[in-house]
Amino acid sequence: ATSARKSLTIGLIPADGIGKEVIPAARTAIEAVGSDLPPTRFVDLIAGFETFTRTGVALPEETVESLQNECDCALFGSVSSPSKKVVGYSSPIVALRKKLDLYANIRPVLSVSPNPGESSAVDMIVVRENTECLYIKQEQQTIGEHGKEARATRLITERASSRIGRMAYELAKARPRKHLTIIHKSNVLSVTDGLFRESVRALHEKYPEVTVAEQLVDSAVYRLFREPQIYDVMVAPNLYGDILSDAAAALVGSLGVVPSVNAGDNFVMGEPVHGSAPDIFGQNIANPIASIRSAALMLRHLGYMKGADRIDLAVDSVVRDGQLLTPDLGGKAKTSEVVEAIVKKI
Ligand code: ATP
Ligand code: MG
Repeated sequence: ATSARKSLTIGLIPADGIGKEVIPAARTAIEAVGSDLPPTRFVDLIAGFETFTRTGVALPEETVESLQNECDCALFGSVSSPSKKVVGYSSPIVALRKKLDLYANIRPVLSVSPNPGESSAVDMIVVRENTECLYIKQEQQTIGEHGKEARATRLITERASSRIGRMAYELAKARPRKHLTIIHKSNVLSVTDGLFRESVRALHEKYPEVTVAEQLVDSAVYRLFREPQIYDVMVAPNLYGDILSDAAAALVGSLGVVPSVNAGDNFVMGEPVHGSAPDIFGQNIANPIASIRSAALMLRHLGYMKGADRIDLAVDSVVRDGQLLTPDLGGKAKTSEVVEAIVKKI
């Protein structure tokens, strides 16, 4: 899929808080593997809460247009979520996922083993459906006989379930273990979760090399903490995927190391899992690894395996060395020192 591209244009949207520190770090890592990429151009784009307070719009039209017309992919930092509801503000990341039809949230969770070559305790990918389920935000409150009543509508479609299923099978197929676990709760929600499960199951005949298991979401959380090694690729509807992917991230320590991509059929956007971390912003101590790994994941998704591998190996080696780590990993290093060490390894 890669060879066709004569050049690569990457949109950079640092957005708020430490996004402004870690997205430039990711750019530096991409530049360091430039020899494995076609000629690459970066486009600086704005969005986020700060953009909203300055301009009245959280996601400017020019940003969307550039992503749609000029960029092959993008890196998104993080947005501050205002603690109170702000009139007129809604999250630009949610809007971007919609506008670019980024229906999959892909989150690899990997523990770095202290010894090279040794297999890691945790090595899985959580694939979360990103467009429907309870997150369509159709909620109403009414007054019933006994007071307030609130209801939410949950949407599951065959189309969305099949396309996320396909993405998950493709990812599983490319991994050594080729194992997929479908997460649902169809013993209780037989109609909605039943449709999700059936839609993903139905694809199995196209992927005979992949083994498929299924698990109820509650027991999946339990097993995730007891024996995470059993998982390879997990696929889940939006809400369960949201919870599971944070739980899985907790298994490997700091939020500062967990990457993700938002992917659709025509676009991919890397995004560190952490938020804007206002408590540490501006001190040059944010861990850049989540963003740097997100950049690698984005490149991998576009087919640039060599560049992605070089970045990932460099990160692993710096983590293993343990000499230059940011405070969230127990070290004393600055963001810039970690970036420098990674670039040197590359
Ligand atoms: P937001 O509203 O943007 O989600 P938050 O306060 O929830 O902000 P998170 O970014 O979700 O902040 O982070 C939660 C905790 O993890 C914070 O204490 C933060 O400092 C820490 N943290 C998050 N990302 C990193 C990182 N890259 N490096 C170091 N610490 C981090
Ligand atoms: Mg947060």
